[in-house]
Amino acid sequence: MIDFSFRMLTKVVYGRGMAKKIGEECKKLGAKKVFYVTDEFMVQNSPAFPVILESMKQAGLEVMVYSDIQPDPSIEVVMKASQAMKDFGADVAVALGGGSPMDCAKSVCMLQTNEGSIADYMYKRRTITNPAKPLICIPTTAGTGSEVTAGAVTTDKQSQEKIGVSDDTMMAKLAVIDPELLLSMPPSLTASTGLDALCHAIEGYTSTQSHPISDAMCLHSIRLVGENLVKSVANGRDIDARGNMALASLMAAAAFTNVGLGAVHAIAHCLGAMYHVPHGVANAVMLPHVMEFNVPATPEKFRQIAIALGQNVDGLNLRDAAYKSVEAVRQFNIDCGIPTLKAVGLTAEDIPTVVKNSITYRLMPCNPRTVSEKDLERILNSALALG
Ligand code: NAD
Repeated sequence: MIDFSFRMLTKVVYGRGMAKKIGEECKKLGAKKVFYVTDEFMVQNSPAFPVILESMKQAGLEVMVYSDIQPDPSIEVVMKASQAMKDFGADVAVALGGGSPMDCAKSVCMLQTNEGSIADYMYKRRTITNPAKPLICIPTTAGTGSEVTAGAVTTDKQSQEKIGVSDDTMMAKLAVIDPELLLSMPPSLTASTGLDALCHAIEGYTSTQSHPISDAMCLHSIRLVGENLVKSVANGRDIDARGNMALASLMAAAAFTNVGLGAVHAIAHCLGAMYHVPHGVANAVMLPHVMEFNVPATPEKFRQIAIALGQNVDGLNLRDAAYKSVEAVRQFNIDCGIPTLKAVGLTAEDIPTVVKNSITYRLMPCNPRTVSEKDLERILNSALALG
């Protein structure tokens, strides 16, 4: 028996056409002025963007649209957005987009009520003492699950690091999941974000902190990715597959925000900051290599992952059945067109920097197998040797 705790502080509503109700939801949170955070792609292309804006205006709310958000928001991007929200005097924020606008909005809401720069919280010079302003998240990708996690990731361009700040009060008050918003994702974005969800589910399931509730959520998420990711990549109009990927992303994130992640994310954050590779690609490229390293620590869990991904393990011993999970993920990467580590930009000369920046990752203790600097070096060298 193990002792554990589990919290899920975000209300989730799931369904098609939910965007029309955002105005009313803002009012329930006491909003008069709303800071509407998104990115320029959404403003120009998303059919949901004007629907949400209109819904807020119909509800009598004053709205400021803020779309100056780039992928992997930097300290500068977060601070500029935070100042804009302060100047406008908004009492609620709404984020529409992928992990980048959602994370930026989470940091911005926290900075409305807590002094200093986001960098102070990234580098632990300050602690969060006041609850963040209320936030509603509306994801348009299925991968990060940021709509239900406590953390927000910011890029420090100077140190070339991506660092998370996490606090329960940064969790969105409401997550609105509408599978229709995912239909516009091109295959490459569908693939990379879907593999981000798979990585969350696998790292959450095998975390040293995992427990029965997180296990159930992660294993079901792995199953959903196994059944729906390749379908979504091949046919972006498949609304059922999109809806299942949205669920997979949400469940994996709701679990990992309770039980942590591991070495894949440690390395992926470095690759993202150093080579500006999309977060999902950075995860996917490392996932099979780290899984291979982790299998001996918890083979039964990896056997379950293999089964959840549809592998036939009948007649195999535990070890061979467990390694089937690695094979399955390798095949996923091929089916989804994920590049190799070399193609991402890693060179042998950069490996010491990646090792140095990864080993201190705050969630590394959750990795099922203890990882040393030498281990990371070996994992990266052998992954690079494969091309
Ligand atoms: P993103 O938000 O960076 O968006 C990538 C691109 O996809 C953008 O150009 C965007 O305009 C476009 N896009 C978004 N939705 C689209 C749609 N429906 N159709 C077409 N294009 C669309 O991508 P992401 O992968 O969702 O987010 C990555 C960020 O999330 C990273 O910074 C990562 O570190 C962070 N993250 C946060 C958490 C968390 O718990 N807070 C977890 C994982 C990742």
